[in-house]
Amino acid sequence: MQAPRCAICDATDWHDRRFELVRFADAPLYAEITGPQGIWFCPDHAQLGLERQHLTTSQASAELTPLQIRPIPVVAHYVLLEHDIMLTKRKYQSWREIQDAWPDYKTSLGPWSEQDLIEYLEDDFPDEATWPFTRAVISSFYKSAQETIKAP
Ligand SMILES: [Zn+2]
Repeated sequence: MQAPRCAICDATDWHDRRFELVRFADAPLYAEITGPQGIWFCPDHAQLGLERQHLTTSQASAELTPLQIRPIPVVAHYVLLEHDIMLTKRKYQSWREIQDAWPDYKTSLGPWSEQDLIEYLEDDFPDEATWPFTRAVISSFYKSAQETIKAP
């Protein structure tokens, strides 16, 4: 079976939360019978499916499609200052704006998703011990509300 993915928000964190497989009017009674099995929802969006159970699977998905929320990817600039390395989610239109904001600016890369940043570090710093930020720090920064962090 495919890993559950919420039809509305695309969330896949079903290890931490209880996702719901909502079955619609045309779903077969027994799983071994082929046919639409239902649609997965995260706990936040299960209600949207449950209140449409009287519809067929395709009617329900036609109504649910316009409700889909595409997650906004979190991106950050990787900024080299004279004496620091910084990650910041602040919105800048160009590297010039970053340069104007930080007097000891040297250069910057990005904006990058967490995945982009990890790939860059893997390519440029084969020895993970020399990474300016550990994987754990990067991961919690991208998930947090923190705007800026500096390398220790
Ligand atoms: Zn959801």
